[in-house]
Amino acid sequence: LGGSISRALQQMSNATIIDEKVLNECLNEITRALLQADVQFKLVRDMSTNIKKIVNLEDLAAGHNKRRIIQQAVYNELCKILDPGKPAFTLKKGKPSVVMFVGLQGSGKTTTCTKYAYHHQKRGWKPALVCADTFRAGAFDQLKQNATKAKIPFYGSYTESDPVKIAVDGVETFKKENCDLIIVDTSGRHKQEAALFEEMRQVSEAAKPDLVIFVMDSSIGQAAFDQAQAFRQSVAVGAVIITKMDGHAKGGGALSAVAATKSPIIFIGTGEHMDEFEVFDVKPFVSRLLGMGDLSGLVNKIQDVVPMDQQPELLQKLSEGHFTLRIMYEQFQNMLKMGPLGQVFSMLPGFSAEMMPQGREKESQAKFKRYMTMMDSMTDEGNTNPKILTESRIMRIARGSGRLVHEVMEMLEEYKRLAKIFSKMKGLKIPKKGDMSSL
Ligand code: GDP
Ligand code: MG
Repeated sequence: LGGSISRALQQMSNATIIDEKVLNECLNEITRALLQADVQFKLVRDMSTNIKKIVNLEDLAAGHNKRRIIQQAVYNELCKILDPGKPAFTLKKGKPSVVMFVGLQGSGKTTTCTKYAYHHQKRGWKPALVCADTFRAGAFDQLKQNATKAKIPFYGSYTESDPVKIAVDGVETFKKENCDLIIVDTSGRHKQEAALFEEMRQVSEAAKPDLVIFVMDSSIGQAAFDQAQAFRQSVAVGAVIITKMDGHAKGGGALSAVAATKSPIIFIGTGEHMDEFEVFDVKPFVSRLLGMGDLSGLVNKIQDVVPMDQQPELLQKLSEGHFTLRIMYEQFQNMLKMGPLGQVFSMLPGFSAEMMPQGREKESQAKFKRYMTMMDSMTDEGNTNPKILTESRIMRIARGSGRLVHEVMEMLEEYKRLAKIFSKMKGLKIPKKGDMSSL
């Protein structure tokens, strides 16, 4: 997709006169690329109309960055589709919340339930899993196996065939045990869709979830919009999780699902393993979809705000793809000291969403400081090679810094996540200032 859009933009900037005809040709190419990426037809059409309204032909004729103007317009429009205008319902730690997962069989619900539980457990929640899928043989065993691996309490039955009863009993059981995140996994049989939607309605009515999460396989393509809408009509979908983003999926279905449910995507699944799960962030996703490279904006930003003499060193580190705890520490220090670098790093995919939520800068600062206290009580050896952090060393760090073990784990998770992002930057090409041809 990114390639086709770049090509379309390239052709346009080769044209000597930019008039309406040239713009239309370019938009046609982009439209085709988006349709090929499985974005719903109506969304693409509306987007194209909007872009035509936004892009000012006079600007195009005069300016040098024609491609950039149009690319920016496409980017903004896609971001708008992915942002339903309301944040996902936020659950409160320590207060029992029920989260119900819905989605077709094979979409990745059971796997995602465990990932979601595990993600929260690492952040100090007390999750529990309830298997209300009585349709698929082996459903309870699958959930049990996942839950056991992650050391998360679970509930289910081999004999009870009423999913409503299991859901209600499970929720009640875990409320008594003071769990604050009770996750209800459901069936997703496809053969009898009407029966499935009726079952979802009943389970939801009885279990009274605080949040219903719709799980969608990223590879379902054009069917995404209709499927998402069908679920939304039987239960109050409040958030979306897209799975299998690691495969060959084109990603356009995700936009369509958001448009259908009017709910934000909160996480994406990027593999079969428990920790292959990422907090979703609109901007890097769209960059990736457009093949803009998550990093082109970052490089420009660095060149805009970082003092000249510090640029080479920072860019060098980024392009080497090495990321040690020491570098993380230094970056935290920078963020606390000097505003601009904070801005730079907030452009890193995955960094802004959790580390520096907008409007909560104070909390983020406190978090950085907390992480740094923990890092202070690590030896240099541990700082450069976190792999050798054994359980007993983690305990020692926690004790040394006066923090809880799960806080140390959280810091290390954050490190792992960032290291993964940085490893993708390896070989990053650094354009000269003002040269947009690499975009
Ligand atoms: P359910 O029927 O909706 O409960 O789906 P499952 O959780 O049983 O998952 C169906 C299959 O998809 C399993 O083989 C999972 O391992 C796989 N799966 C789930 N999420 C992901 C993901 O993010 N990436 C990949 N590659 N596989 C996934
Ligand atoms: Mg399942």
